[in-house]
Amino acid sequence: MPEYKNIVILTGAGISAESGLATFRSSNGLWNNHPVEDVATVEAFQRNPAYVHDFYNELKKELVKAQPNPAHLAITKLQKEYPAKISVVTQNVDTLHEKAQNSNIYHIHGQINQAVCQNCGHIIETFGDVDTQTVCPNCQVMGMMKPNIVFFGENLLYMDKVDSLLRTCDLFLSIGTSGVVFPAAAFVQIAKINGAHTIEFNLEPTSNNYYFDQHIFGKAGTTLPAFIDELIKNNK
Ligand code: NAD
Repeated sequence: MPEYKNIVILTGAGISAESGLATFRSSNGLWNNHPVEDVATVEAFQRNPAYVHDFYNELKKELVKAQPNPAHLAITKLQKEYPAKISVVTQNVDTLHEKAQNSNIYHIHGQINQAVCQNCGHIIETFGDVDTQTVCPNCQVMGMMKPNIVFFGENLLYMDKVDSLLRTCDLFLSIGTSGVVFPAAAFVQIAKINGAHTIEFNLEPTSNNYYFDQHIFGKAGTTLPAFIDELIKNNK
């Protein structure tokens, strides 16, 4: 019998740092040169959709080149070799979990390679440019595409599913997230209250460490593969 049956892995910008993607709060962070009020709010998109599209089209060019690092690949190994239901709940908009061939991925903040039609809800997937002239291939209406990124002021995606995963998991891993962006910062609390063992992987203690049973400090590209190898070994 495996030690755990339902594992939830929450990831944040820190898991992608070793793939060369700046974290949110670092000095050269992805949003550093653009205040979030200009590119990541509902109002900004209503005010100047062309500007917001340009910003995400440029970001796509950076993110399409990024490659998964050993932390993403360790999750693939866990999903292949450990007999449990293993879900990845990510705050990241990059697609490194997909590139590493992780499965059961929930992008609660959306993903950079998607745009959603505000007329019919159709989602297109592309690393190419999307703009105010783009025609929805489903309803044929022009100019209604929005980057499928959850802006401040919008609801997160997949929350019902994620809530039920958190309530039933017996192991909760939080990797490379500062724990200051809600509601993801409260996920550990839900998992812990419902009986999960909770572990945080980060470079340093975060402000949200009260509900973690264990902290593993260091770069996720080193600490996570070692932890996962041990988990798999102990199950054999
Ligand atoms: P954050 O920038 O607030 O925090 C990153 C955390 O990762 C920090 O606590 C830092 O100490 C830790 N960290 C940095 N390098 C690490 C490493 N090598 N190993 C382990 N930990 C490491 O990011 P957040 O908590 O995810 O919240 C910021 C928001 O910004 C998220 O909503 C996310 O959508 C967005 N964002 C996404 C990306 C991306 O898609 N790659 C990049 C930047 C920001």
